[in-house]
Amino acid sequence: MLCNRSATVGIKRILRYVSQVRWNHNSALLETHIRNIGILAHIDGGKTTTTERMLFYSGKTNILGEVHHGNTVTDFLVQERERGITICSAAVSFDWRDYRINLLDTPGHIDFTMEVEQSLAAVDGTVVILDGSAGVEAQTVTVWSQADRHKLPRIVFINKMDKDNADLDNCLQDLQKKLGIVPVLLQLPVFEHGKLSGVIDILSGTQVVWDKPSNGRKYTRVPLSETQTLDVRKNLFEVIDVLSGKDDDLAQAIIDAESMENIKTELVLQAIRRCTLKQQVVPVLVGSAYKNIGIQLLMDAVLKYLPAPNERNDIYNCFGTDFVGKVFKVTHDKQRGALSLIRVFRGTLKKGSKIVTAKGTAETVQRMYSPWADEYREISSIAAGNIGLCAGLKSTVTGDLVVSNVSVLRNALKKLSINNASSDESDDEILVNKLSLQTVVPDAVYFCSIEPPSSAYQVALDHALKEIQREDPSLRVSYDETTMQTVLGGMGKLHLDIIKSRIFSEYKIDVDLGPLQIAYKEALEEPCCGTWTAEKEIAGHRQLVRMELTIHGDKYSERFRLDNSSEAQENLKMIRPKQIAFVKKGALAALERGPKLGGQLMDVAITLHHLTIGKGTADTFIMAASAQCVRHVLATAKCRLMEPIMLLEIAMPSEHLSAIQTDLNRRRCTILDVTSRGHFHKVLRANAPLAELEDYSSEVRCISSGTASVAMEPNGYVLLNEMDEASAVRRAHGLE
Ligand code: GDP
Ligand code: MG
Repeated sequence: MLCNRSATVGIKRILRYVSQVRWNHNSALLETHIRNIGILAHIDGGKTTTTERMLFYSGKTNILGEVHHGNTVTDFLVQERERGITICSAAVSFDWRDYRINLLDTPGHIDFTMEVEQSLAAVDGTVVILDGSAGVEAQTVTVWSQADRHKLPRIVFINKMDKDNADLDNCLQDLQKKLGIVPVLLQLPVFEHGKLSGVIDILSGTQVVWDKPSNGRKYTRVPLSETQTLDVRKNLFEVIDVLSGKDDDLAQAIIDAESMENIKTELVLQAIRRCTLKQQVVPVLVGSAYKNIGIQLLMDAVLKYLPAPNERNDIYNCFGTDFVGKVFKVTHDKQRGALSLIRVFRGTLKKGSKIVTAKGTAETVQRMYSPWADEYREISSIAAGNIGLCAGLKSTVTGDLVVSNVSVLRNALKKLSINNASSDESDDEILVNKLSLQTVVPDAVYFCSIEPPSSAYQVALDHALKEIQREDPSLRVSYDETTMQTVLGGMGKLHLDIIKSRIFSEYKIDVDLGPLQIAYKEALEEPCCGTWTAEKEIAGHRQLVRMELTIHGDKYSERFRLDNSSEAQENLKMIRPKQIAFVKKGALAALERGPKLGGQLMDVAITLHHLTIGKGTADTFIMAASAQCVRHVLATAKCRLMEPIMLLEIAMPSEHLSAIQTDLNRRRCTILDVTSRGHFHKVLRANAPLAELEDYSSEVRCISSGTASVAMEPNGYVLLNEMDEASAVRRAHGLE
């Protein structure tokens, strides 16, 4: 008995080894047999529940996690489990049939748009989940537009068909009306005594039922009844009819066969695949993740209809077989430190190899893992098309493009610009536009102070913020010398709240956040100059710094420079370069806080005319004194406030356009354009001041009875007029 068991274990081990060898070395098989997919939905649509089932049925887990039990694999951060929502896009890999599926579960909230964008740039297709009782909800429209931007083929899974009020027809209409797409229904729900018992697979003409005791792991196909057969034939003909209008090969096959009746299933399947890849149609499946119905067929559909990595991403051809990848997320692991999730597009990334980011920093990959939500399996390489985690990268951040060396990148950019000779894009623009690289992290639009429970926690808090910032570059951390507080800048209220609860659960520091404020910037109206002396005695030594400087508007050149007139040079060349460096550091720090509301000064530069530094003055004093001098000169400067602007993209049924426009006009918005999406929909783009957008998402839902969706992203800063400025100042001081 014992002997038998160990033999079985041995065989299992060998099989596992053989499968690893294949995954690691047979790269030809790899690319065609990989699916990188994102999973998108309105909050509570069932993303996490569906992912749990996929992991369970593929054999990756032995127990079924439930969101309300707080034991799911992908919602592994404590506050995700507490709140039951997905914040970080966790990646998981699993094998299904002969394929590897890498799946990214993405956060649904607008405050985490940067993460969703990065994840979408790393996948080749998506599964969009609908709640069968709710249809297409606002967030679904938003994520759909995001997937549109990345030209991602999609499958829709209509989940929660077990609910009493689930309505398949309504969902199909919603898909057509709200998203303007052509849904191709491939399954029908089957109900027994009013309860969902299985689905009918229209293409194969069979009914599939799931076994309850095995939690749906086992399922069988049973023949259809006579009435079901008629129903299925009708649906199949509808599918073929829609496809033949779009796919020439299928149309030709029908002509050759002289009827739809004799068309082979395989031909229909191929047509669905071609049309899905071209984003002409969207296959629709049904089921219930919670009741364990339909998930295996959904995974089959991912293999059948969504693209392999080598069927997309032609843009990376300019790298040939050289390694190129993209960091789409950085996460922290208690034992392993920072882990960078990398999607490899070309070549192979090997353990121990050197990589360079597009910004030029070089790093070494120390270890690599296959992603498994909060657990990882060590691997030795990541081949083209695959996703993996790398440990040991110290400065690489979310959104970085990584290559094996600088010349690889240079050659690739050269090829890209030659292919694109008509445009005169710079290298940076090519990186951003063609390789969808977001090289600039969006400016924080909200800020608030953060305080540890006592000063004894300050060092631990600084460390925690540093680690969190690497994972999430959209979090800004600064220090306000006037209030002597650490200040967080973020993309919204939820964003900052989540940071607070992460600091509590992961670092055990119970911080206080101050009131949320809009991050205004300040602009200088006219140049100002002045002289200031800072003098102090520290431990018996006289410290002295005297500066004469001008602060003026300039957005193009160095923000700190030395007056190069011969008179000024005579004085400045006497000062040690190291001391000048400290003067510069202090001066630039002072520009972070304008005189009006403490907002960062935009597009200004400082010219230093004259500098005196007393003998024996400490470097730290020089830095502080320099900041003091600049602040003193700034105090007399005429500044204006600039407010953050958001680019809104609102998708809505046409009948709500005028009500939404009227409301936008009240909010000081500038409407940029209105375009049509399908026959019934309009998409409006507008620039809107952030200050006017409090609760805008829910307001829009109210105006449009829940049919419109809003996507927003920061879109720069504009000057406020005097009246609005006065009111912003009053509001910031709590007077309004
Ligand atoms: P997410 O926010 O998209 O990740 O959604 P979750 O997976 O967290 O699911 C939200 C809620 O819906 C949870 O309480 C789930 O148990 C429940 N749920 C998910 N799938 C189904 C389903 O098929 N049927 C029903 N009745 N409830 C479901
Ligand atoms: Mg979730």
